[in-house]
Amino acid sequence: MSPERFAVRGARVLVRGSLERRDILVQAGRIAEVAPEVDRDAQTLDAAGLIALPGAIDAHVHFREPGLTHKEDWASGSRAALAGGVTTVLDMPNTVPPTTSLEALEQKRRLAAGGSLVDFGLFFGLTEQNVEEALAADGVAGVKVFLGASTGGLVVRSEAVLERLFAACRKPIVVHAEEENLMQAARTSLGRPPRPLDHGALRSVEAAVAALQTALELALRHGAHLHVAHVSSAAELDRIVEARKLGARVTCEVAPHHLLLDESYVAAQGCRGKVNPPLRPAGEPERLWERLRRGVVDCVASDHAPHLAAEKDRTYDEAPSGLPSVELFLPLLIECVARGRLGLADVVRLSAEGPAQVFGLRGKGRIERGYDADLALVDLQAGRTVEASAIRSRCGWSPYEGWSLTGWPVVTLVRGRIAFGPQGYDASSRGREVDLGESRGESA
Ligand SMILES: [Zn+2]
Repeated sequence: MSPERFAVRGARVLVRGSLERRDILVQAGRIAEVAPEVDRDAQTLDAAGLIALPGAIDAHVHFREPGLTHKEDWASGSRAALAGGVTTVLDMPNTVPPTTSLEALEQKRRLAAGGSLVDFGLFFGLTEQNVEEALAADGVAGVKVFLGASTGGLVVRSEAVLERLFAACRKPIVVHAEEENLMQAARTSLGRPPRPLDHGALRSVEAAVAALQTALELALRHGAHLHVAHVSSAAELDRIVEARKLGARVTCEVAPHHLLLDESYVAAQGCRGKVNPPLRPAGEPERLWERLRRGVVDCVASDHAPHLAAEKDRTYDEAPSGLPSVELFLPLLIECVARGRLGLADVVRLSAEGPAQVFGLRGKGRIERGYDADLALVDLQAGRTVEASAIRSRCGWSPYEGWSLTGWPVVTLVRGRIAFGPQGYDASSRGREVDLGESRGESA
C-alpha cells in the first residue's frame, strides 16, 4: 500500500528525547503532520507496537556498480539497505570505471536511478589529473580523496592538487586518511610476506594521524569543509577536536566495525577482518565509544564494502580490504541501545540527523512536517541471530555472523512508498538522487 495520502498510526516516535505515541500523516511522499491523532479519514498503515525512526542515511557505501557487480549492484545493495532501515545511501567513487570524470558520474547516475530502491547521492573521486572536473561536478555529495592507497588505487599525493581542491571546493571534502609513505615504509621494514595480523602495523594509527594532520591543516588554512571518513582511533578524534577549537570546519564518521570489532576478529577470521583502516587492538573501540558519547562524532556510516567470501579467504596480499554491513548498521546501533551504550536519540542523531546535516541533504533525517516520509518502522522486541544465509547483500557473509540482535526494521518507507515490508520489496519503487539545495555554492 502506497497511496498518495495515508497515516502511519500508532507508532511511538522520539519526542524531545522520549518515545511517545504519534500518528504520521503522509502526503505526496512527504510528512504532512505528526500528532497524537491525524486525519481520521486517511487510509491507515497500522504501526501499533512499532517505533518510527527517520530512515537511516548511510553516508559511506560501496555499491560496486558499474564494474564490480559480482560483489554488489544498485539493486542488491539497495535491497540490503532497505531491510536494515536505510533509505538513503551515499556511494563512493572506486567503481570500474571510477567516478572520476563527468562522463563516469553521469553513467553512475543513470545506473543508480535505474537500479536503486533507496535514495542516493554520489561522491566524485579526486585524481592527480581531474581537480578542475571535481570542482565543476554538479550535484555530488562531496569529493572523495584517498591520501593513501586503498581499494581502487585512487591515491592523490600531489600537494598542488590538494591545495587547489581545498582552496576552491565548496562541497564536503571526504578524506580517507592514511599516509602512503608511512605505510610503504612499514611494509618494507616488515621484511617478510605479511600475515593478516600484520595489517594493523602496516596501516598504523600513526599513519592515520599523519594523513589526518595534512588534511586538517589544509582545511584550516582554506576554510574548506573536511569530512573524515571511517575514523578508527581515539588519537584521530582528539586531533579533530583540537582542529575544531582552532576554527576548522571538520566533521567525521565512525564505522560500526571500528566500534564493535577489534584485532581479535582478525586473529580468529584472518582476512575476513582485513579492512582499511584496520581493526585496532582491544581497548581502542572503548576509547572511540567514550568520545562518540561526548558528541565528537557526527555520524556512523557503514563503509559497506562487499567482497565475496571466497575473495576474502585468499592470502593477505590477494584478499581485498573491506567489510559489508549496510543492512546491519541500524540493527547494530539499536542493539547498542539495549546494551546501554547509547540512547535512542543518539541513534537518530548518528544515523539520520547527523549525516543529513553534514552533507546538506534537503528534506532528510527527521520525522517532521515537510520532511520526506523516509521511515524505518522498527520492532524493538524482534530478536534474530545474524546468519550468512540471510544476508541480502550479494557478498553473502557478515562479520557479525552469530551475533544476536534485538530490534529490527519491519517496514521501510522511502518518500511515502512502502519499499520494504512483510510482503517483501516493492520492486517498482525507485530511488532518487538527493537534493543538495540550489544555493549550496554560496552557503557552503
Ligand atoms: Zn570506503
